[in-house]
Amino acid sequence: MTADRRDVTPEVVGELYDQGTELLSALMGGSLHYGYWDGPADSGSMAEASRRMTDLMIDKLRVCGGRRVLDVGCGSGRPALQLARTTGAEVVGVTISREQVRLANLAAEAEGLDGQVTFHHGDAADLRFAPESFDAVWLFESLLHMPDPQHVLKQLATILRPGGRLVIANLVQRAPLAEAEETGLAAYLRITGIASIAPLDDYPGLITDSGLVLDELLDVSEHSIRRTLECVLAGLSDTAVPEVAETDAAGAAFTHARAVVEQFAATRGIGYALAVASKPARHAAVVGAAIT
Ligand code: SAH
Repeated sequence: MTADRRDVTPEVVGELYDQGTELLSALMGGSLHYGYWDGPADSGSMAEASRRMTDLMIDKLRVCGGRRVLDVGCGSGRPALQLARTTGAEVVGVTISREQVRLANLAAEAEGLDGQVTFHHGDAADLRFAPESFDAVWLFESLLHMPDPQHVLKQLATILRPGGRLVIANLVQRAPLAEAEETGLAAYLRITGIASIAPLDDYPGLITDSGLVLDELLDVSEHSIRRTLECVLAGLSDTAVPEVAETDAAGAAFTHARAVVEQFAATRGIGYALAVASKPARHAAVVGAAIT
């Protein structure tokens, strides 16, 4: 792993999102993940592209009414609400940020979905759900914040019922980075609370070692990365500075953040991918045991 900051603790990430969720979700179209554009001719807004990325995740999850889904790292709650509205599934969201729990539950209430979707505070590394209690799980741009992704995935594999699906959306590394890019990336990880960006090639091993089967690894970089960062940078334009920067220090931090995002946007080796996995059905495990 090239980019790696194991000193990013869940507490640090929680505080970062306690303070940053409202601004970030305004910049990113309501949710806190990258968007999906069909191609160069697609003139959709950040909010539309964000919803389309969520639709893609919903498509990969393949759930319907009566199913129970765990959303690990639920952010503002928007993706979970879209999932519940589209499929009728029950959704339980977990986040390390207490402010996000508050905002997400308010959003669920406002949409009249609070009976179907609930949000709770918790650390993905220490979830207290019963084994096999969910039909599906997603980690929608959250695994990259977690210091030990393998541990989290193993735990989720236990919580998932046999035959259930797990879908991950994440920034990935697609090519080696130049030294200057590595330095820029380290700064980006610091301001965003990202623990690591794993190479795309690591995913098959990560999934298999968690006891899951990799069904699909989908590189959507060309549909996602640059356009999202352009939208974020446009939102971080000079006109936005006075609103967030009440002091000189805050203004300087804001200017620094914008420079770091600009450099990150120029880092071509970074991409975005979806990993779709499933837990072997029980009969498959029995057959496997019988022939070993
Ligand atoms: N899935 C949402 C939010 C993505 S931002 C969306 O797509 O919009 C990353 C999310 O991961 C935040 O909600 C953050 O609080 C959560 N997160 C990061 N580390 C976590 C941890 N250790 N346990 C639980 N949630 C975590």
